[in-house]
Amino acid sequence: MTVPSLGEFSLIRRFFSQQTLKNPSTRLGIGDDCALLAIPDGYELAITTDTMVENIHFFAGADPKQLGHKLLAVNLSDLASMGAKPLSVTLALTLPKADEAWLAAFAEGFLSLAAHYGVDLIGGDTTSGPLTLTVQALGLVPRGKALRRSGAQVGDFIYVTGRLGDAGLGLKINQGYACQHPEAALNRFNQPLPRVTEGLALLGVASACIDISDGLLGDLGHILEQSHVGAGLNWNKLPISDAVQTYINDTNDALMPLTAGDDYELCFTVSPAQVHLLAIECTRIGIIEATPGLRLHKSGVIQPLTSKAYEHFC
Ligand code: ADP
Ligand code: MG
Repeated sequence: MTVPSLGEFSLIRRFFSQQTLKNPSTRLGIGDDCALLAIPDGYELAITTDTMVENIHFFAGADPKQLGHKLLAVNLSDLASMGAKPLSVTLALTLPKADEAWLAAFAEGFLSLAAHYGVDLIGGDTTSGPLTLTVQALGLVPRGKALRRSGAQVGDFIYVTGRLGDAGLGLKINQGYACQHPEAALNRFNQPLPRVTEGLALLGVASACIDISDGLLGDLGHILEQSHVGAGLNWNKLPISDAVQTYINDTNDALMPLTAGDDYELCFTVSPAQVHLLAIECTRIGIIEATPGLRLHKSGVIQPLTSKAYEHFC
């Protein structure tokens, strides 16, 4: 039996417009030319967008449910890094074909994470072409209070949430590295959890914040550059899982947890006077210094590091 092909509008209706709207800010969701949002007094709208392209950001044939999850997670992570509360998202899909099983799984991964954070899908665009997935995420932050990259001061402590390098290990496993217990690393790579609650708890506490999408060195490098400061990192304090430590022992690739992307943890700075307000689980890994650049303190040796982040077109 031939299955009638799914057109653009029935595809949107079937997979994306069935959700009940959860956020009081959403005045109008999918179905008109624009969505409508109400912005409460005293707040600013935080807006971010991230695209994932097949063969660049994910492997061809990647699990669609995990892709849906990750696409939303990476966007919510950007809101988290500024201390914004997620409200709603739009979704632009470019698909080579309307594959119903793929779309059902993708929508499940995407919409279940959205429901978890009370985020409404309020619109988007659907076109045919090479597989490209784009989300725009919208969030609320109290006026003038957003966490920025530019606020780090000399003497501030540097922290990270969670662990470093698990997602990088997940990528290495996908590329053939044999790991005894691969589940946690693969899960971290395929289905990162955005640190939304932590970002909100850092409002009024952190002096600067960024989410680690391109590796700690590159992303902390952005804070240093925009704050016009340098930093010292303490190797022994870096939160690294046993599996990542085993990887380092096996390969001698000690910088992997500092340079691999996709962790989606938060890296932030807090002044000593504010540290007592810090109420989230995190690890102090270093200190902001006046001398520009990044230095790693390892077994009594100070090693300068380059903090270049991954760049497309390079
Ligand atoms: P227009 O042509 O006016 O831009 P479309 O025909 O592209 O509108 O989309 C119809 C409605 O469906 C709009 O409300 C749009 O925001 C929504 N929409 C389109 N694609 C998606 C998608 N992938 N996910 C969610 N909403 C979508
Ligand atoms: Mg229109």
